[in-house]
Amino acid sequence: MKVFHKINPLKDVLNHHRSNSLKIGLVPTMGALHKGHASLINRSMNETDVTVCSLFVNPIQFNNTRDLDTYPRTLEKDIHFLEKLGCHILFNPSVQEMYPYPPVVEFGFGEMEKSMEGAFREGHFSGVALVVAKLFNLVKPHKAYFGQKDLQQFVIVEKMVKDMNIDLELVCAPIIREESGLAVSSRNQRLSEAQKALAANLYKALQLGQQLLAENHDISSVKREVSNFLSQWQDICPEYFEIVNTCTLKTVDYMEDGKEVALCIAAYIGSVRLIDNIIFKK
Ligand code: AMP
Repeated sequence: MKVFHKINPLKDVLNHHRSNSLKIGLVPTMGALHKGHASLINRSMNETDVTVCSLFVNPIQFNNTRDLDTYPRTLEKDIHFLEKLGCHILFNPSVQEMYPYPPVVEFGFGEMEKSMEGAFREGHFSGVALVVAKLFNLVKPHKAYFGQKDLQQFVIVEKMVKDMNIDLELVCAPIIREESGLAVSSRNQRLSEAQKALAANLYKALQLGQQLLAENHDISSVKREVSNFLSQWQDICPEYFEIVNTCTLKTVDYMEDGKEVALCIAAYIGSVRLIDNIIFKK
């Protein structure tokens, strides 16, 4: 695997691949790689000729310095992990390389960024969109791979790609889970075994919500039941539980046949903030 820390040599190699008509796949990550990331990399390796994994903890998408400072950084392990997967290129720029001066461009996504992650992390999606746009411009991938785990992020990136006519195909890959149902996440490293067991109840809460929707319970009673379910555990501090339209991210007031919704949750277990979701269609 070739590792690049600088933009120009990365562009040179990718230009060469592009001129040989090779298809490029991009998997953007913030590192501390796990089997969720591996599923995206494997998919890119199957569907394209050259897979580029970017590893960059993007400071401008964090509005909480403690969250940024404690974000796990395991570069040596990540390189080994990517080599074992057969990934072709790792792009691991410094903050200085990505932001040689403070960026002035900001992105706005209207209502889409006001709910859920956006409501609790001001400026988060502007920071995500800027780094993703930069990566798209640097790598010029034919396909870019994201996880359903960050559903709101995917829908917003999809909107940006459409609005800006960015010429690439986006892939939204399913959520990889532990046997307990806990969505795999880099942040899980900061949980004790007992906390991991507790965190698995977030998926159980989503499954309960899904089951109640399937049984035709109305949205407000589903929300109440899910909230009651989670209140059994003092050490789970829910931030939100929302049922949203998967295209617009707007809160859904009632279920319509054939319309897809996403049940989305965020909660703290100790100081670790976790998110998860299920997509459901009646
Ligand atoms: P991150 O490094 O957390 O920014 O994640 C990089 C990409 O991996 C994002 O597109 C995530 O949605 C995706 N991802 C994270 N966790 C999972 C998971 N458990 N299953 C599938 N994809 C994931």
